[in-house]
Amino acid sequence: MEHLTTSQIAEIDQQHIWHPYSSLTNPIPAYHVESASGVRLKLADGRELIDGMSSWWSAIHGYNHPTLNLALKDQVDVMSHVMFGGIIHEPAAQLCKTLVNITPEGLEKVFLSDSGSVSVEVALKMAIQYWYSKGVKNKGQQRKSRILSLRKGYHGDTFGAMSVCDPVTGMHHLFNDTLPKQLFSESPRCGFHDEWDESYIADLKGLLEKHSHELAAVILEPILQGTGGMHFYSPSYLKRVRELCDEYDVLLIADEIATGFGRTGKLFGCEWADITPDILCLGKAMTGGYMTLAATLCTTKISDGICNGEAGVFMHGPTFMGNPLACSVANASIDLLLSSNWQMRILDIEQQLKSGLAPAMAFDNVADVRCLGAVGVIETKQPVDVAKIQKQFVAEGIWVRPFGSRVYIMPPYIISKDDLDTLMRGILKVVEHYSA
Ligand SMILES: *Cc1c(COP(=O)(O)O)cnc(C)c1O
Repeated sequence: MEHLTTSQIAEIDQQHIWHPYSSLTNPIPAYHVESASGVRLKLADGRELIDGMSSWWSAIHGYNHPTLNLALKDQVDVMSHVMFGGIIHEPAAQLCKTLVNITPEGLEKVFLSDSGSVSVEVALKMAIQYWYSKGVKNKGQQRKSRILSLRKGYHGDTFGAMSVCDPVTGMHHLFNDTLPKQLFSESPRCGFHDEWDESYIADLKGLLEKHSHELAAVILEPILQGTGGMHFYSPSYLKRVRELCDEYDVLLIADEIATGFGRTGKLFGCEWADITPDILCLGKAMTGGYMTLAATLCTTKISDGICNGEAGVFMHGPTFMGNPLACSVANASIDLLLSSNWQMRILDIEQQLKSGLAPAMAFDNVADVRCLGAVGVIETKQPVDVAKIQKQFVAEGIWVRPFGSRVYIMPPYIISKDDLDTLMRGILKVVEHYSA
């Protein structure tokens, strides 16, 4: 095949290609990236950008990592893919064993799938099938099939996942006729460090009290509500949700697709509250950003409940389930993370983010600055124009992609002190002088 010129690529892009959450009649310009290495994205025009996004939480070891490259190269010569129905292979066995070992105690069963949104669909189906099976056994028990979610939550873009996203930012009005009607509690009002007050959980408790008979599960993102608002909340909140779910006999689904693999300073967000959810979703950083892969873990209580009931089997089975290439690079990525001094690394990044972003608090157009683990957030008073501000970031040699009024970064863990300083200096310079 002949290579395309830069202008051909731009033309094809403009005429034919959807980007995430984009318009084709009024497209936001896309930057042509030719290669990526370490924490740098190299543009076709020769410029290099320091990456503040880890390609949406995923590239925790940076790009073009020799160990991860090798894992893929080795696996491709052995077996790229084989169906998972009736077949097992070492890369999947290794990965599932590791996930059971490193996730909170009690999560014993693993369902592999292709993306975060699908892993959420799987989690919702597990919860609903669990109660379906139980309902069959205990005749007369009301069917529990609705989900209780938090406002400002984000869980993905497929229909089930969308139904538990924040009703406003999740664009529920567009799909109102087709979306399952779920319940929403107010989002956690407490910050990460706030002293606990039982009133923080009152709304959620009230909903559980009133609706537990029809609720299959509560779903939430532990500690950090990501794409719905970039808000950190108290571990006590998470602990109380676990207690209340037990009290009202409702399952707890923890969506750690963004928080998993060290991002908040613990390997998993649930560890901040020392809880085990009934069902856990993982994705994004699992393969170090190399391949698309996700996992839904559950306890034996859940798998027994599903499999001992009327259905007898769990009804899901993606074509590319357990893809050996994805599993191999996930194994290499997790190994790389666990054998590094990641806790110290994240703590250092957190300290540097805190001091580096603090000056933004004094800017007229900034409402709040907050950091946890390797995540730094500047909340502006007004929403920013993404295309406009992104151009200014690129001019500073940094890759930052805000949404709404959140200018945030979650850089690869391997970022050097100097590069992180440059990244934050660029952000401060742009934000300070930004006006819509
Ligand atoms: C990104 C994300 C998802 C969706 O994952 P995809 O791989 O984009 O489908 C779900 N939940 C959370 C918390 C996420 O951050």
